Amino acid sequence: MEGLRIGALVTTREIENSEVVQRHYASLAKSVMVCASVQMRNRATVVGKVCRASPSLDTLAPLISDRASIQPRSWYREDRSRT
Ligand SMILES: Cc1cc2nc3c(=O)[nH]c(=O)nc-3n(C[C@H](O)[C@H](O)[C@H](O)COP(=O)(O)OP(=O)(O)OC[C@H]3O[C@@H](n4cnc5c(N)ncnc54)[C@H](O)[C@@H]3O)c2cc1C
Repeated sequence: MEGLRIGALVTTREIENSEVVQRHYASLAKSVMVCASVQMRNRATVVGKVCRASPSLDTLAPLISDRASIQPRSWYREDRSRT
């Protein structure tokens, strides 16, 4: 598998229910399953968690260990990838 792209609107519940994530990114799948409640997971996004940057967030460690990178975008600047 080449990799996984998680868009800004992808909720943690969608990650939790993704067969691709469960099969290839087990630690990320497990981390979202233990986050708060189903109602919270239906609302919270993976990107929102990263941007919030709270040290208590469950999803950051698996993203780091899976060597995730970020592609910040805006309407006036070119893309600049971050690891
Ligand atoms: C009661 C409660 C229990 C929780 N329990 C857990 C838990 O057990 N485990 C856990 O890991 N987390 C937990 N959380 C955190 C929660 O799951 C969310 O991660 C957190 O509330 C952030 O919400 P959000 O993803 O909707 O982001 P938002 O609240 O929408 O955004 C967070 C910040 O990121 C910015 N932002 C969001 N998206 C973008 C973007 N695309 N580009 C630029 N900036 C952006 C916003 O402006 C904001 O400053 C809990 C939260 C609550 C309220």
